[in-house]
Amino acid sequence: MRIKGKNVIVTGGASGIGLASVERCLQEGASVVIADLEGSDGKARAAELDGRYDGRCLFQACDVTDTVQVDRLFADTVAELGSVEAVFNNAGIGGICPTDELGDEDYLKVIDINLNGVFRVARAALRVMYRQGGGSIVNCASILGVFGQSQTAAYTAAKGGVVNMTRTLAIEAAPKGVRVNAIGPGYIDTPLLEALDDEMLQGLIGLHPIGRLGRPEEIANAFLFLASDEASFVTGAHLLVDGGFTAGKS
Ligand code: NAP
Repeated sequence: MRIKGKNVIVTGGASGIGLASVERCLQEGASVVIADLEGSDGKARAAELDGRYDGRCLFQACDVTDTVQVDRLFADTVAELGSVEAVFNNAGIGGICPTDELGDEDYLKVIDINLNGVFRVARAALRVMYRQGGGSIVNCASILGVFGQSQTAAYTAAKGGVVNMTRTLAIEAAPKGVRVNAIGPGYIDTPLLEALDDEMLQGLIGLHPIGRLGRPEEIANAFLFLASDEASFVTGAHLLVDGGFTAGKS
């Protein structure tokens, strides 16, 4: 099996794409740490899932804006499970606001979670994986990492940064046996889209030639592939999983 017996960390693992990825990894025989905010559903989800599959499912409170918490996440996972073979750098928030009305605080919050958080988690993962001699890091980018969209200055800046940082990390880490890739989801039906009204959702659906929003499991499957040895020659990629959203644009 693809990742049977391996240990995986999923940031933002309590909800949406992260939670679907946790479940897919457990189904494939991995052990998984759900890393999410202290007040999230992560603890309850891990309690439900631990014992249902062969692998363990643990929760660790971790805010990706806090370097100490991120480093502790990796140290504790190694202490508990022995190693970390794959990481889904998935925690993220949305943000829609006309740029002329966007305050520093809101702009910097999106950048600190969606871009700096990815850096903190990737750095901690590289340190562990270099010691082990291998591993796979998958960063969650977006179609908005390669295309612009009105009123998403912070989000597009962060996701564009994630796409290009992924390339740099891939080049740097390849000689040490670590692969680094990104996934670029189209619009996926998760709580992240809850703020949008019906008309906006219908408009978004119309942008996907497949004619619907994506499902979290469809991103989880892409993560599983990139995390596993099936993707042993894939590094530095931004794998678009977008129902054709970008096909007419590139
Ligand atoms: P989601 O359901 O809201 O899940 C995101 C998770 O990240 C939540 O559990 C959230 O906790 C957690 N989180 C937020 N801030 C965090 C922090 N500082 N530290 C640790 N965890 C934090 O959203 P999703 O749609 O699954 O999003 C997952 C990733 O996919 C994000 O990077 C997002 O940008 C990306 N993405 C999503 C879409 C889409 O259409 N859904 C499209 C392209 C890319 P709380 O719920 O407590 O805030």
